[in-house]
Amino acid sequence: MKEVKNELYCRECGHTHITEHREYECPDCGSSNVYNCSFITCDCGETVYLSGHTIECECGKLYNGFGQELAPVEEWEPEDRYGCFGPQNACYDY
Ligand SMILES: [Zn+2]
Ligand SMILES: [Zn+2]
Repeated sequence: MKEVKNELYCRECGHTHITEHREYECPDCGSSNVYNCSFITCDCGETVYLSGHTIECECGKLYNGFGQELAPVEEWEPEDRYGCFGPQNACYDY
């Protein structure tokens, strides 16, 4: 299980902060005009944003929205494939 971190982007000052959990205020300017998205770091070193049900890294690894690695799609049941590739967006916007 990979460590899920949070990236906070402040629309006010334009800074990006990596935090443990989602934050509601910018650590720099205190603005609440912020955008949070959780992410993990793949074994290949890529940052994978958990912005959906199923996220594919550039290296081909699949993760779910909790950052858990999934089996390759070829091993899935057809119903599971269908259910997991809908247009989902788990990124939250404040
Ligand atoms: Zn700020
Ligand atoms: Zn990867």
